[in-house]
Amino acid sequence: MRIPENKIEEIRLATNIVDVISEVVQLRKRGRNYIGLCPFHNEKTPSFTVSEDKQIFHCFGCHTGGNAFKFLMDYGKISFIESVQELAEKAGIHLDYEEDTSKPEEQSEQEILYDINHTSGRYFSDNLLNPGEGDYARSYFENRKIKIKTMREFGLGYALPERSSFVEFARSKNIDLEKALHLGLIGRYNDGRLYDKFAGRIIFPIFSPNGRVVAFAGRILEKKEGTAKYLNSPESQIYFKSWVLYGLSYA
Ligand code: ZN
Repeated sequence: MRIPENKIEEIRLATNIVDVISEVVQLRKRGRNYIGLCPFHNEKTPSFTVSEDKQIFHCFGCHTGGNAFKFLMDYGKISFIESVQELAEKAGIHLDYEEDTSKPEEQSEQEILYDINHTSGRYFSDNLLNPGEGDYARSYFENRKIKIKTMREFGLGYALPERSSFVEFARSKNIDLEKALHLGLIGRYNDGRLYDKFAGRIIFPIFSPNGRVVAFAGRILEKKEGTAKYLNSPESQIYFKSWVLYGLSYA
């Protein structure tokens, strides 16, 4: 069973985590946040905080945390889908599982972005697994005892070091370059030329709870002056940093 991502987003936006948690934890306001006794570990002084602004909870005692979906999953020991169903019901949102069968020409803006990330993720993964061009990056993982099977399972990848490899690939696949810019896969120089944002980095896809690629994290292989060790996709129409938990789709 798959619930369309835009439905999950609609539910997320209709939900206030403070209301959800207040039903089972007595919260009181302190500054911008709410605090209460943590329901996940025994304590006498509150170290459990809820941020209404960020729509997340965090416990400084047992270090659990996440969004409203995650709270219900942990508290009720239920699956992600069940937590979505529960919040949908609270928000009065009807879940229609047939919505996902849209025809390509009716693809929503978001679906196009998911497709671009999916295609790009495959490209990065192929780069990593290809003999020759992926050898150097693969040795990084192999030195860390990460097996090929795991690289495939987590969709790990490699962005070739030439700053135009991905742009060329995107053009060859008729990927909408403006959308690739929005997703942070490519950048634009002042003179208008496009370049690969992740060039020379090993790639970790970031998945939505439904298992779709919403963003990428890239780690530089060779440290150069003026380059950040890690680069993450910016927030986009399909990537909301506050609620995506790396690896949750494998939970
Ligand atoms: Zn706790």
